[in-house]
Amino acid sequence: MPKTAPRHPAPPRRVVAVKPATVRSVMPELNDRIQFTLDILRRQDFEILGRLSFLTIERPNGQRESMDFRKTGPMVGQARSANLVLLVEQWNGIPPHVETSEQMCPACLAKCDICEGKGTKVCDGAWCGGLGYRAEPTGKKECLMCNGTKVKTCDACQGSGKRSTGLAGGERYDDTRVPPQQRCTSCKGRKRVNKEVAVTPADFGSRSIGPMIAVGPVVRFTIAPQEPQRPTLTYDVRADINGDYMLLLLESSAVPCAAYLIGGIPTRVNR
Ligand SMILES: [Zn+2]
Ligand SMILES: [Zn+2]
Ligand SMILES: [Zn+2]
Repeated sequence: MPKTAPRHPAPPRRVVAVKPATVRSVMPELNDRIQFTLDILRRQDFEILGRLSFLTIERPNGQRESMDFRKTGPMVGQARSANLVLLVEQWNGIPPHVETSEQMCPACLAKCDICEGKGTKVCDGAWCGGLGYRAEPTGKKECLMCNGTKVKTCDACQGSGKRSTGLAGGERYDDTRVPPQQRCTSCKGRKRVNKEVAVTPADFGSRSIGPMIAVGPVVRFTIAPQEPQRPTLTYDVRADINGDYMLLLLESSAVPCAAYLIGGIPTRVNR
């Protein structure tokens, strides 16, 4: 016979006064809340909402910062018999932040198609147009763009004579090719060297609670439903009746690991 779960996780006492000194005294309550969540998972007492795409935390100074999971966030469920949103998949970390640099991708570098490899081009300064001077009523004035040299550094290749095409082997784009040309696997067609910067919970002010890692308070999160035509679900999270905010709790600093959303009351933001 199905058991009716209480509407709120028990037992309600302060969970989120997470100062390192109080960690030990706080652990038993966290443990109860985790067990409650695990029980829901065990009984499959939830409906899938979608994939976690953003999770916003608030820093002590009130500044908000968001983890961007792109398409790799854990699945999120809504408990059927309790007002609880829970992670129903393991935590795989936060995807790295990809920064596009100014440096051209060396894997698809080819002769610059603007200057044909010369690294220079005819001066396109106003009134010069490659003459090396400006014809003014008072006489010829030296062109300040080319200083009389009639040529300018090619902007497209910064004078190097080479330019990344974003296509495999540095091929030039040709829309008549069958099969179509392949993108450069190194830069994925972006033509620039991309730098991946690791993002960790520590970047969001995480702290240890016993063996676990806590991040928060979580003030907002966004879920992408599995059916792409359905709108994104956004939840604002406020403190619960005990004044506890939501925490993201990770079982360890290694991935994958179990993760829990504990405390707080998530409310769907109407759109
Ligand atoms: Zn060039
Ligand atoms: Zn000029
Ligand atoms: Zn490339």
